Amino acid sequence: MRVYADNAATTQMSEAALAAMLPCLREEYGNPSSLHSLGQKAAEILWDSREKVAACIGASPKEIYFTSGGSEADNQAIISAARIGAEKGKRHIVSTSFEHHAVLHTLKALEKAGFEVELLPVGEIGNITPDQVEAAIRPDTCLVTVMYANNEIGSVLPVSEIGAICRDKGVLFHTDAVQAAGHLPIDVSAQNIDLLSLSAHKFHGPKGVGVLYARRGVRLTNVINGGAQERGKRAGTENVAGIAGMAAALEEAVSRLDENAAKVTRLRDRLIEGLSQIPCSILNGDPIKRLPGNVSFCFEGIEGESLLLLLDAKGICASSGSACTSGSLDPSHVLLAIGRPHEIAHGSLRLSLSELNTDEDVDLILAEVPRVVEYLRSISPLWQERR
Ligand SMILES: *Cc1c(COP(=O)(O)O)cnc(C)c1O
Repeated sequence: MRVYADNAATTQMSEAALAAMLPCLREEYGNPSSLHSLGQKAAEILWDSREKVAACIGASPKEIYFTSGGSEADNQAIISAARIGAEKGKRHIVSTSFEHHAVLHTLKALEKAGFEVELLPVGEIGNITPDQVEAAIRPDTCLVTVMYANNEIGSVLPVSEIGAICRDKGVLFHTDAVQAAGHLPIDVSAQNIDLLSLSAHKFHGPKGVGVLYARRGVRLTNVINGGAQERGKRAGTENVAGIAGMAAALEEAVSRLDENAAKVTRLRDRLIEGLSQIPCSILNGDPIKRLPGNVSFCFEGIEGESLLLLLDAKGICASSGSACTSGSLDPSHVLLAIGRPHEIAHGSLRLSLSELNTDEDVDLILAEVPRVVEYLRSISPLWQERR
């Protein structure tokens, strides 16, 4: 038996996504820029996908730009807003200290180029208040970028309120909605979002494809230069199959959003309830405003990596902190941002569920995690000494 509980890292492709992709990889292999009928068929698939994605987030199809994924969308959104700001002499950017690295590292690069980046401190439960954002906005602020939901600890941020503040103050608002898409409702108009990033492989679509939504009138800067694809804003022959798969996956996820969220939330709460019983365990993230599938804990006295390997041997796929930091010994910047001390941040476990998980999966996790944590503590001289 294998239990896959690492859906924040990536998800299994849905049958709908696969079914939408296969014809593009077999008979409909034309280049959408070609004038012949095979090319025009591909262009049609592309437009159809654009309409589907737009409908899922309350946008118009011409506001949808296909990218290679969430990271590229984040990069392009932020670089574009910075360029627009700089042209008006505005070089101040507001964000948070627990964004994804695709955002944080782009901001770092802008800082080197002369922008001033203000990272709002995150509260103990991984929250940011609209007041914090409002207080940080200055006359020279060109961009606020705050994620919709955090990929490690699952906190859901008040993006509608932040969007309203930014609109009121005339500041562009970008949100990395990679973890929210397909799990939480998104309506870019109602939520006053100017720029938004999505990634297909986080909602049962294929890897290597994503979306940048840019409100009409928000001028994008190219990060990939070349041909005139994506209305001249993102060069390169389109990943037609990936885009078709993404559109199908998103459409399905959005159509089942409430039903899936209810199911996953119930499984999540069983896990949180059960794992809270482990002595010296701390739940990370907001206990209430939380992604339906996110369970994140720190267990004192253990190493997250050892926990993962032992769980893997039991057939459980989980994660410790973010996958991007595995391989380095630095604890997760997200756990440090919410104030976890280094030694506690090292003992973290993230379980991220999807609607494909079952009660049996939860049973197995609840049987194994406490056992493995106890074992690791029993062989830790430091823990023994402390007791
Ligand atoms: C996965 C993820 C990304 C990166 O998306 P890719 O498509 O893998 O580049 C960005 N932001 C968040 C919050 C993510 O979870």
